Amino acid sequence: RSNAEKFEFQAEVSRLMDIIINSLYSNKDIFLRELISNASDALDKIRFLSLTDKEVLGEGDNTKLEIQIKLDKEKKLISIRDRGIGMTKEDLIKNLGTIAKSGTSAFVEKMQTSGDLNLIGQFGVGFYSVYLVADYVEVISKHNDDKQYVWESKADGAFAISEDTWNEPLGRGTEIRLHLRDEAGEYLEQSKLKDLVKKYSEFINFPIHLWASKEIDAEARADDDESSDEEETSESSSSEEEGESETSEDDEDKEEKPKTKKVKETIYEWELLNDVKAIWLRNPKEVTDEEYTKFYNALAKDFGEDKPMASSHFNAEGDVEFKAVLFIPPRAPHDLYESYYNSNKSNLRLYVRRVFISDEFDELLPKYLSFLKGLVDSDTLPLNVSREMLQQHSSLKTIKKKLIRKALDMIRKIADEDPDEVNNDKKDTEDSIDNEKKGQYTKFWNEFGKSIKLGIIEDATNRNRLAKLLRFESTKSDGKLTSLDQYISRMKSEQKDIFYITGPNKEQLEKSPFLERLKKKGYEVIFFTDPVDEYLMQYLMDYEDKKFQNVSKEGLKIKDSKVKELKESFKELTKWWKGALAASENVDDVKISNRLDNTPCVVVTSKYGWSANMERIMQSQTL
Ligand code: ADP
Ligand code: MG
Repeated sequence: RSNAEKFEFQAEVSRLMDIIINSLYSNKDIFLRELISNASDALDKIRFLSLTDKEVLGEGDNTKLEIQIKLDKEKKLISIRDRGIGMTKEDLIKNLGTIAKSGTSAFVEKMQTSGDLNLIGQFGVGFYSVYLVADYVEVISKHNDDKQYVWESKADGAFAISEDTWNEPLGRGTEIRLHLRDEAGEYLEQSKLKDLVKKYSEFINFPIHLWASKEIDAEARADDDESSDEEETSESSSSEEEGESETSEDDEDKEEKPKTKKVKETIYEWELLNDVKAIWLRNPKEVTDEEYTKFYNALAKDFGEDKPMASSHFNAEGDVEFKAVLFIPPRAPHDLYESYYNSNKSNLRLYVRRVFISDEFDELLPKYLSFLKGLVDSDTLPLNVSREMLQQHSSLKTIKKKLIRKALDMIRKIADEDPDEVNNDKKDTEDSIDNEKKGQYTKFWNEFGKSIKLGIIEDATNRNRLAKLLRFESTKSDGKLTSLDQYISRMKSEQKDIFYITGPNKEQLEKSPFLERLKKKGYEVIFFTDPVDEYLMQYLMDYEDKKFQNVSKEGLKIKDSKVKELKESFKELTKWWKGALAASENVDDVKISNRLDNTPCVVVTSKYGWSANMERIMQSQTL
């Protein structure tokens, strides 16, 4: 084409496309859900803009927020169009080729080892999955602010963009044309396509129509035509021009042929493939587990094998009304803690009265719960204000508070229902053991335990609730995880404090001289081995009226009748030691110890100073 401008794909994108095009990956279906998801995102965007500016929608067909799919067997072509926001020329260049998303190289790497393309949508490069089935793709797009353009590529390292002077004007939105590879012919089968849309796009909140053929009885149709002629013309403004024209062509054909009773005729019409009732508006009692799983898949763009660990669907009433669905994903995203302090993004989608507003609303959940996926739909928030205004709306505080409570309840429930949890009363009754729930809390803890700890540090209001969710190993936990409640239930009657020790790993801690005496006397000591635990223990002062005592720090109180006696008889020696060590400013005091058994002496850190482990952590950080 004479007016085409050529561009090269960014290197990462090019690598990704090579992998996709050469992939032997069998589940090629995923291209369709990625395209539909993009169309839906684009529709969400224009609808959002239209809240504050009605003009953006335009008029006539342009106001129809829907997705249309057409199949052309002869040309081996699938086209998917939306009336979404569209892309300007610049958008086409940036979004489809020259700027790789941050996750691209991580995904490419993963692809080379595991080869599972199923997660492509999570990495923000879902569009390129079109090359699983097509060898040539055209993207025709019209944005309100620009002319209509065509992007095209044969996945050979380059793409071209031209001003569109030959296709029909789209009005607004995007049409993607996939020129299928020979071996992808199955996607031209209407029934296959319908099944796929049903399977993957059940939760798309815009109507998806397929230009579908239908066999009808010619005779019956002729009769129908006569009787409903008038109605049809009066309705014709309602929808598809193309539908109208094709049926009238058929009519002409028919007149030439003699009518016989048995003649079948093929007509085309737009067939609605999805039911757009939002799942979160339904009664939670009527939604099945399977439906929630599918909803999670769509919402989180996570089509992995595993089901979400838990879900919570509720309806908040009162001053602030909203509906919400929360999910705990089956695994932590690859960069959950990497970007923890830099990003503020929650993974909740915010809707106001069924209209999608944003999925980058950090006011909905605190950082430590950013691993949750889900959505909130509020009737209380105003619809026709800017995002900035919404962000400051007073109802958000109430929503956030309730979401946190529900999220923590949902997490606690995993533990309550897990037969492996020692606290669980149900553990003895064989019948009630639910194998699906077995071991789930350990799984949760391994994936997201760190988030709970960060929560204890950050969220003073919910500190106690979060502390209940803590798990750790101890001198008595026998290699398993245990909780503070379990620890307390095992405490010795005269024991006042909860004992813990921090260090780089359990093996090293088990040998610590600080534990000698405590172990011998039967006291349980918690092992904290994660660097974050040191920070955690600066915030977690007590639990259920019991103080925490680091056994390597000053202040350890255990009952020992002999100590008084020993103090007396070694008075002179301690005094001498104190004098001898006074020169070194590192030693504050010398005392008779109640924590040792075989080891003659040990250096204890002061109550308010850093533990030796903390010193180690700080040193490794400054290196
Ligand atoms: P993601 O959807 O996660 O952003 P994709 O690779 O699926 O990643 O799409 C890349 C980008 O291309 C989108 O973010 C969007 O800006 C743009 N895009 C893709 N399809 C459409 C469409 N139908 N309408 C408008 N923009 C689109
Ligand atoms: Mg996408």
